[in-house]
Amino acid sequence: MQEKVINDSILEKMTLENVFKIFNNNVYPMLKDEDIQFCEDLENFCIELHSKIDKSQDVYSMFPELGRHGYIQRINKYKDFTPYGMKNEILLATIMSICDPPLEFARIASGNLCGNPTFRHGKSEEILKVQEEIVTGKAVGSICITEPERGSDAVNLKTKCTKVDDGVIFNGEKVFTTNGSKSKYFVTYGVYDVESPRDTMVQGMISRDFGGVETKRLKVNSVPRAHISHTIFNDVKVPMEYILGDNGAGYRNLFDGLIPERIGLTGSALGVSWGALIYGIIYTNLRKQFGKPVIRYQGVGYGLADLLAKNTAATSLALQIATTYDEKIIFAESPSKEAEKWIAAVSSQGKHFVGKLSHETCYEVQQHMGGISVTDNTPVDELADQSKVEEVIGGARNIQLLLIQGQIQRFMRLL
Ligand SMILES: Cc1cc2nc3c(=O)[nH]c(=O)nc-3n(C[C@H](O)[C@H](O)[C@H](O)COP(=O)(O)OP(=O)(O)OC[C@H]3O[C@@H](n4cnc5c(N)ncnc54)[C@H](O)[C@@H]3O)c2cc1C
Repeated sequence: MQEKVINDSILEKMTLENVFKIFNNNVYPMLKDEDIQFCEDLENFCIELHSKIDKSQDVYSMFPELGRHGYIQRINKYKDFTPYGMKNEILLATIMSICDPPLEFARIASGNLCGNPTFRHGKSEEILKVQEEIVTGKAVGSICITEPERGSDAVNLKTKCTKVDDGVIFNGEKVFTTNGSKSKYFVTYGVYDVESPRDTMVQGMISRDFGGVETKRLKVNSVPRAHISHTIFNDVKVPMEYILGDNGAGYRNLFDGLIPERIGLTGSALGVSWGALIYGIIYTNLRKQFGKPVIRYQGVGYGLADLLAKNTAATSLALQIATTYDEKIIFAESPSKEAEKWIAAVSSQGKHFVGKLSHETCYEVQQHMGGISVTDNTPVDELADQSKVEEVIGGARNIQLLLIQGQIQRFMRLL
């Protein structure tokens, strides 16, 4: 804290431990016993970690610590880290975001966006080794979809792939690569034929060790402790063992992967939202003006009440999406086609709703708390910074709305 002006008796209550107490009171009734135990262990880990976090430093030195406890990802089974599945990934993302939003932002890019394809599509020993490095936090990973000229239009990629005897050569330019300048591994999409991207898209796991990878950090004010980069692939030769989806399979893998990505990001945004709301609840209950706690003024109390209702609704939606994904797709003997379609559609609804809610919550909480909330005396301003990117990452607002609109039009086929 650069200069403390918050009242000591309020500050001593604004602890991560207290935030978790209120979060748990709202969320545990929706969870099974093993998930509650998972949350308790994770929260204890976060309380311990939080005391060691230096906010002037990047987040990456904490990756091995996360890895040792199985907290780089929880979608997939890795070693004996249980429970696992999408519900646990959401809980991990939410709780980690409450603890340290930029750390969660970097974690999800490495563990989920880069790590998940190694479980879904990786069969070679080489990919299993990449998986081990990522999941243990020994190495950092990134996903490279977005290009300077291809953002929302993630199909018509310009990154060019060329087949050679023993591999694929990638040439192209990517932007907004989360973790980029810190990453060893990059799940990267390119096409053999720019005129026919769907049929020729390739998904490759590029290692920095292959040579020809250049990363230049972008300045993103709202996420100062994570690295987001401009990434250039210059004649990078990727051996076939590192190709996760060749000649059109890359396209299917890209769109399959967007679903767990959106669900996971919904969890990260939820944590930002709950964190800001609960710090706001604690502060406004203790801060007095005109002789009484400001929460008792309708302008403050009803505003926070409205946000609590929205956050509870968003949480129950996110948990329902994740539970259905686990039960009817991931753990099902034969995945339900109907559930797959519903999840694909509703993951956009969840990502859209919660991404936007995180920003609304942070902004509104800051108005309800007053000046202290824009200083570093509380964690709310860091949460507000993170909330600025939640709607853009993983597909911007209009792309989610475009997908939802398509769903609305398909309803007419039911008639
Ligand atoms: C902090 C941060 C981290 C990121 N991390 C990654 C990462 O790790 N890997 C990665 O690959 N990408 C990453 N991204 C990129 C992110 O996914 C893109 O920013 C996003 O998909 C939008 O692309 P764009 O920014 O190029 O916007 P554009 O596609 O240029 O869109 C500009 C505006 O037009 C709207 N728009 C575009 N097309 C349509 C349409 N058909 N209908 C209606 N409106 C439309 C958009 O919603 C937006 O408002 C990150 C971005 C940020 C900001």
